[in-house]
Amino acid sequence: MMKTLLLNPPSFENFDGGASSRWPSRREVWSFWYPVWLAYPAAMIPGSRLLDAAPHGVTPEEAVGIAKEHEFVVLFTSTTGFRSDVKLAEMIKGANPAVKIAFVGPHASVLPEETLGASRAIDFVTDKEFDSMVTEFASGKPLEEIQGVSFRKNGGIVRTPPPPLNRNLDDYPWVTPIYKRDLDVTKYNIPFLLHPYISLYTTRGCPALCTFCLWPQTFDMHPWRERSIGNVVEEVRWALANFPQVKEIFFDDDTFTIRKERVLALAKEFRKLKFTWSCNTRVHVDAETIQAMREAGCRLYIVGFESGSPQILKNIKKGTTVEQAQTFMSNCKKAGMKVHGDFIIGLPGETPETIRQTIEFAKRLDPETIQVSIAHAFPGTELYEYVTKNGYFRQDAQMLAETGHQLPHIEYPGLSRAEMMEAVDRFYLEYFLRPRAFWRVVKKTLYDRRERDRLFREAREFIRLHFERKRFIAQQEQLKAA
Ligand code: SF4
Repeated sequence: MMKTLLLNPPSFENFDGGASSRWPSRREVWSFWYPVWLAYPAAMIPGSRLLDAAPHGVTPEEAVGIAKEHEFVVLFTSTTGFRSDVKLAEMIKGANPAVKIAFVGPHASVLPEETLGASRAIDFVTDKEFDSMVTEFASGKPLEEIQGVSFRKNGGIVRTPPPPLNRNLDDYPWVTPIYKRDLDVTKYNIPFLLHPYISLYTTRGCPALCTFCLWPQTFDMHPWRERSIGNVVEEVRWALANFPQVKEIFFDDDTFTIRKERVLALAKEFRKLKFTWSCNTRVHVDAETIQAMREAGCRLYIVGFESGSPQILKNIKKGTTVEQAQTFMSNCKKAGMKVHGDFIIGLPGETPETIRQTIEFAKRLDPETIQVSIAHAFPGTELYEYVTKNGYFRQDAQMLAETGHQLPHIEYPGLSRAEMMEAVDRFYLEYFLRPRAFWRVVKKTLYDRRERDRLFREAREFIRLHFERKRFIAQQEQLKAA
């Protein structure tokens, strides 16, 4: 086996990169998801190491120093971090020309030629889920014999046929022993999850067709695959025994609640283990399932409500309605289930009126916490095709600020980038400055010093970002006036 480094690279400060997050950008406040996709091959390649640079404060220079001691580096890149990832690959190759470098992840899957063309430091790229491809390469298999890779040969680019989709997820190893071996779980924070938390997947893929959503369109795809109940329960049992300090397990499946019978069967087993957990869901979950999950220790759902405009929900093929969202929220409140709601500004059809509709919708739903993102169109998604075809893409616009925070790169007639940015800011302020929401946040910290420290840190970061957004809006207005 080649000495292999699985690398979630350093980039912007506090940017958790593509290996962890469906929206690769820096969040409003201190947030790090786990690099779950890299943990699988880390468990499959004996003697390998998983390095998640950003949460562990590893600088580019330090990452190069570690990488050059390896024979093979698997780097999870993203559209937003791509340029700095290429620079890092070149620094690694400069320090050790013998090291082989693979770029993996959605960006490399969708744009293999462009990725390879960006630098000769990149030896090959993989298509979609890459567990077996990089494991085979590390074991010495020639690239020509590995399915689902692209590489340079004789002045051209060779693409091998994709491998069949592995539908038996129990074939894959557990990721949590790799967290124990290579990561410091106290470095991972998500404001709405208990700290420290760990996350893992019990399924791969999502059958829903949301046009903006990156992973199911480019990476883990729409066919929904599941691990067996026994396999999941045994990993949870292992994790609980080995991470006594962890306060919550987050099941970061694209959508945890696709099949009701499976959820109920898992809930029945989880109930016996007596632990606190949370998961991603859609608003289709019925009252019986919510109640069963709550009784089994499920504390919180993360839900993509996205928009309060029925037309926008249709435009993005969300497959849900505002009425379903309202029924779902009322069932959650009855069961005592907390909800973190995701909303997006700048989806197709967005106008100042639909933004107002969405803000009012969020207030009516009144989830515990919210995230407001700016619509980003990533290559390989239907949203990307839509904005490109209709000329709504601002080719000159960056997706991220120098700090790694989101910037709008789409502009519609009647809705400018400055208006979108202003709407995000206003959304947060209007939402959290309501007495009910404000008190809910403060109440959590009254008797818990660690929670209080976390809230103060988040508040400081939020205020800093508020002024960064104001600067962007002012710049845009100056440009318009000029
Ligand atoms: S339901 Fe969630 S994970 Fe599935 S496609 Fe829609 S946004 Fe993506």
